[in-house]
Amino acid sequence: MRGTLLNFMLAFCLNSLVQILLTGHLNGAQTGASPSPSQDPTLRDFDPQPALKVASTDLKKARFPVIDIHTHFGIRLKGDRAALEKYVRLMDENNIAISVSLDAELGNEEDHLKFIGQGVEQRLVTFAHIDFQGSGQKDDPRTWDCNRPGFVRTSVEQLRAATQKGILGVKFFKSFGLEYKNADGSLIAIDDARFDPIWRTCGELRLPVIMHVADPVAFFQPIDGNNERWEELSRHPEWSFFGEGFPSREQLLAARNRVIARHPGTTFIGAHFANNSEDLATLGKWLDQYPNLMIEFASRINELGRQPYTARKFFIRYQDRILFGTDGPWPELRLSYYWRFLESYDEYFPYSEKSPQPQGMWRIYGIGLPDDILKKVYQENGLRVIPGLRNVFERTTGAKD
Ligand SMILES: [Zn+2]
Repeated sequence: MRGTLLNFMLAFCLNSLVQILLTGHLNGAQTGASPSPSQDPTLRDFDPQPALKVASTDLKKARFPVIDIHTHFGIRLKGDRAALEKYVRLMDENNIAISVSLDAELGNEEDHLKFIGQGVEQRLVTFAHIDFQGSGQKDDPRTWDCNRPGFVRTSVEQLRAATQKGILGVKFFKSFGLEYKNADGSLIAIDDARFDPIWRTCGELRLPVIMHVADPVAFFQPIDGNNERWEELSRHPEWSFFGEGFPSREQLLAARNRVIARHPGTTFIGAHFANNSEDLATLGKWLDQYPNLMIEFASRINELGRQPYTARKFFIRYQDRILFGTDGPWPELRLSYYWRFLESYDEYFPYSEKSPQPQGMWRIYGIGLPDDILKKVYQENGLRVIPGLRNVFERTTGAKD
């Protein structure tokens, strides 16, 4: 009986103490301090810092000179020359020999060529994208260039002219399949036969076509508590393609694959691991099926680094098919995560300098690739499929020796 009373009093005291602490915390919360442990933290507050102490490899640069096949010097730098020159210095420090910008516009390449070409000893080269809307009004697809007679013929002529100007490939944004419309307002199908002459000409001119089709799985799922990218989509609901009005992810990827199959003489580069880094088994089947498909992993180390065993096996098996890409220019810290992912066996490290981690709230593991595979991914595969790179690469790396 006495024991029970003691227990009761002790419980009462503890309870009071907790109440006092709680009140303190609650007051604290109102003044911006940490929220009470009794409250569920909102996802915005939840950014757990790992207590784990494991080896961390200090990689300040890549082991071999790198060709970064996926960068956006137009979209990200917006004409800021100082930022461009700063990034080229960062390329030197990180052992990036060449960055391939994807931001020239077909038929109007000069602007971007001028921007990336000055004062940086041609370390930057570019692909060009086709402007489907052109001078048309955004809300009236009937007025868009792609729905005017002669659009494909003009594009083909522009591709021929572009190779003379030094354009090394062609880029298709995800708008193709998700935004570009026919005159009647329906979405243009990626495998619409009217574009066949474009794919064919790219093959003829040896211009690889880098295609960003669809997006991560999560972007096609409901934005709810089961969505693994909820945090990100809650900040960017416009990135979601879930629901009415959008084709499914599977439909988009299948349409892209039909284009690849129909044009075996053209090299296609599936941007972002052909947007299927969540399912490497299927991606492997596509690579087996389409010898003219290459892939690059810009902005996908978040996906690959959370499946290090599967990813390592995949890189070894498809070592001749993978190109290096970042989606940058990025800050130096983010570049270092690419080196660590590929070169080290580091465990549970961030994939981005941002906090919380912006593309899924998890961390990644390195896959410790051997030197011969690193060299293929960093440079040899790129040199093979983008013929125009060889001269620039030799001049750049030769000059460094
Ligand atoms: Zn990109």
